[in-house]
Amino acid sequence: MSKINRVPGYMQSKGNRNRGPIGDREIRYKCSMQNTILDVLRARPGWQEVSGTTGASSSGGTTSAKTSDGDWDFYWCDREWLHANYDTMFLQEHQKILHFRNHYELTRKNLMVKNLKRLRKQTEREMGKKEAESFDFFPTTYELPSEYHIFVEEFKKNPGIIWIMKPAAKSQGRGIFLFRKLKDITDWKKGEYQPLTDPNREVPETYVVQRYIEDPYLIGGRKFDIRVYVLVVSYNPLKVWLYRSGFARFSNSRFSLDSIEDAYVHLTNVAVQKTAPDYDPDKGCKWATQQLRQYLTAKHSADAARKVFQGIDNIIIKSLQSVQKIIINDKHCFEMYGYDVLLDANLKPWLIEINASPSLTASGKDDYDLKYGVLNDVLNVLDLENRLTGKEKRVGGFDLIWDDGPVLADDGSMECSVNGTSTTANSFLGCHCERKKQLREIYTAAQALKKTAVS
Ligand code: ADP
Repeated sequence: MSKINRVPGYMQSKGNRNRGPIGDREIRYKCSMQNTILDVLRARPGWQEVSGTTGASSSGGTTSAKTSDGDWDFYWCDREWLHANYDTMFLQEHQKILHFRNHYELTRKNLMVKNLKRLRKQTEREMGKKEAESFDFFPTTYELPSEYHIFVEEFKKNPGIIWIMKPAAKSQGRGIFLFRKLKDITDWKKGEYQPLTDPNREVPETYVVQRYIEDPYLIGGRKFDIRVYVLVVSYNPLKVWLYRSGFARFSNSRFSLDSIEDAYVHLTNVAVQKTAPDYDPDKGCKWATQQLRQYLTAKHSADAARKVFQGIDNIIIKSLQSVQKIIINDKHCFEMYGYDVLLDANLKPWLIEINASPSLTASGKDDYDLKYGVLNDVLNVLDLENRLTGKEKRVGGFDLIWDDGPVLADDGSMECSVNGTSTTANSFLGCHCERKKQLREIYTAAQALKKTAVS
């Protein structure tokens, strides 16, 4: 398993430490998860775990989040905890906590589509049809039961196509099924969608019904989707970091439209695939994003591969903009999203969903190393240690792609460019990622700069 790489400025002697907002003491953290993130936090020099029940408490005129064992500076909490405590909690200036209050605006399937549709409409009104076409990256989707009648009209206009039904708030492929005929959802309708004549009847679970992408891009005859890690440190102004590495998750069985009831063929979730009878954990169902980019470059062209990844950048920025005015911005909060993107046979990327709690449990050594690196770099970007200058465009595997506007790449850092020009976006998904070397360089540079500023 990876060991943290010691870098200059990491464990400075007491007298020499950068006095950041936390001052000259250890950083106290809490963590609700028992997976890779806990390993990362425990291995981080100068960080100390605090435990106990967290609640809001007040002393004198100031109110702060306390645990029974003392204050925390950093909390990797679960969404349930945040929902239960956020509204009564007051945080000190320097405290950082995972999740924005209403992150579900982007991560619940129905709300994500609603927000995207709204921004697309607004863009069409204000900037015209052509510009609004840049939003055509999510499949036609309706919320059920509320939009059932509109869906039926659309269904009748497109006879024979395949639709996918998904519970709006579930994950890991739970409750998903594909269908071709309206009568295939009558069973679902019987159970889920009845007029609410009985006042005691529970409100039916919200689903989305979505046009199924029938022609996915296949490698070795198998379908895959791409997991992309995105860190948002602020919504106002919008500040977005994109991680260079991620992975493609393949289905275990060859793709075919003959068996639409077979989840092993159509759903690429690891949670689904690992239950397949012939699943081989050693063979794995994953490719690193770098491998995928190389494959697409070799098979098609560097330009075709670049277009795919530019399309993914567009998906990330447009989707975040669609909730920018809705998310309750709070300087204490950050979000690490896991985007799921599917390519169709024309290499067009489609947004499938956005997760606010992407799986941090590793499925093998490579997966562990990837997740360990992402999480460490989340902490490096957040910089509670105050080791950066704040002007960095790259921190480890994260590149700053949006800072209240598009961020352009510097000359000479264009690992994936053809000519190294500086008019290209600072985005390197699927590119070379020597994160430890890069961290050493920026920490050395930041230290030198800080020393000069002091003397
Ligand atoms: P969950 O939150 O349960 O994982 P997703 O929306 O991510 O639900 O869907 C699960 C899987 O189903 C995806 O990883 C993808 O393989 C497949 N899938 C979902 N929507 C579509 C679609 N519109 N077209 C093709 N495949 C889809």
